[in-house]
Formats: sequence, structure tokens, C-alpha cells
Amino acid sequence: MRMTEGQNARREMTRGEVAEQLRALGVERGGVLLVHTSFRAVRPVEGGPAGLIGALRDALGPDGTLVMPSWTEDDDTPFDPASTRASTDLGVVADAFWRMPGVVRSDHPFAFAAAGPRAAEVTADPLPVPPHIAESPVGRVRDLDGQVLLLGVNHDADTTIHLAELTAGVLYRTPKHITVLQDGRPVRIEYGENDVCGVRFNLADGWLRERGLQSEGRVGYADARLARSRDIMAVVTEHLAPDPLLFLHPPGAGCEECDEVRESLPA
Ligand SMILES: [Zn+2]
Repeated sequence: MRMTEGQNARREMTRGEVAEQLRALGVERGGVLLVHTSFRAVRPVEGGPAGLIGALRDALGPDGTLVMPSWTEDDDTPFDPASTRASTDLGVVADAFWRMPGVVRSDHPFAFAAAGPRAAEVTADPLPVPPHIAESPVGRVRDLDGQVLLLGVNHDADTTIHLAELTAGVLYRTPKHITVLQDGRPVRIEYGENDVCGVRFNLADGWLRERGLQSEGRVGYADARLARSRDIMAVVTEHLAPDPLLFLHPPGAGCEECDEVRESLPA
């Protein structure tokens, strides 16, 4: 047993214990599972980030498919699925996952990584613009009736909500760019992304909970939330239909990001 400084009394959990917690939470054997996680909240787990990934794959079984975000934060360098690190925001587990044997990764800067029988299907789409349209990894997880697991994070990290925003027809877009290789040369692509600050995405937590559509528990030491992708889509599009600006902080609330997004709206 190892105790880590600053985490006194946190016993290292075994991979088997974590897999058991995942099953108890409701992770479906043989299913498709999209995971967003902060390892800091989960640890200590035997084997570190790789141990957590092992537990996730154990819970899914050999017929299950594990999916994680794997995009780059570097807008100015062409993305290489074999060498570009995952954005720091995505955490150490996401950055460990795409490097593992047998894991496939999208061949574009808005990449996700996946392992299991549906991995190729989830990651095969060409560059989606904006990043989280129906023909993108989050869209494919929805198509496959997958589950979304938030491990030590809340719905502000839930990328499926961006797909729901687009489905609901929100009009806000923030100007962004990426760089891709075209005929061996770097080319800058400008695009607009539905990218609010995300704080108000946490409203989805209550919407799912009040309908009994979210399973909650502990995985490792983290608070865990599990919901079906289709249920997230349904509750979010339902709330956005009458109020497409619901996720924006009100003007003057002190959120610069949301104020900027408001300025992008067509007059
Ligand atoms: Zn905001």
C-alpha cells in the first residue's frame, strides 16, 4: 500500500476495485463509452493513468469500445496523430490513452482516440468543422447509443453538449483557426466554433438528475457521473429550443468569454 503526500489516508485502489466501481455505476459491458476525466480527482490508482484505462477496458469487456478526447491545443502546427500531444486541458489520462498499443486516433486536429471493435467507426470522419458536428466522434458515440462518463469533472467538460448546441441551432460562433497539411504544405483554416465559457453547461447536471437519467457514484476517489449520449442530447436540445442563449452568462455578469460570444451573434 502506498500513501502519497498530500493525499493522506487515500489508499491506492487496485485496477480490479476501480473496474468494479465502474460496473456498479452502470458502465455497460460491450458498449461504447466516452470518458472525460481529471486523474487528480481519481487517484491514487494502481498503475497510474494506465491502470485507470485498464480498469475502464476491463469494465467494458473485449466487446466494448473506449473513447477519449485527444485534440491538440496547438493551432499553428499541422496535427500528426502519431506524435502530437493531446491538449493539456484534457489531462494525463487522455494523453496516455492515444499512445497505447491498439488505440486509433482521428487524423485531424479535433481528434478523439478509441480502442475496441467500434474504434475505427468513431474516429474515421474527416476534419469536422466546427469540431463537434454529427459527423464527428461525439456524433458517432451518439449514433452508437454510447454512454458518457464524467470522472472527477462536471458537464462543463462534456463535449457532447457542443453537439447538442449545434443540433439545437445555436448561432454563436467564436473565430478560431487551425493548421493542416495540404499537399505537404501547412495551410491555415479559419472557422467559427460554438465555444462558450462552458460554466453553464453544468445546468445539464440537474436536468439529467431530476429525470433519473444520470447515474452517480464514486470511481477511484472521484465523483462520477454516467449518462447516455442520447439522453444528454435530448435534455439539452429541449432546454435550448426555447432559449438558445441559455448557456451564455448574462451580459454584464463579468464573463468576458460569454460577452465576446454575444458580440458574434447576428444582429
Ligand atoms: Zn461565461
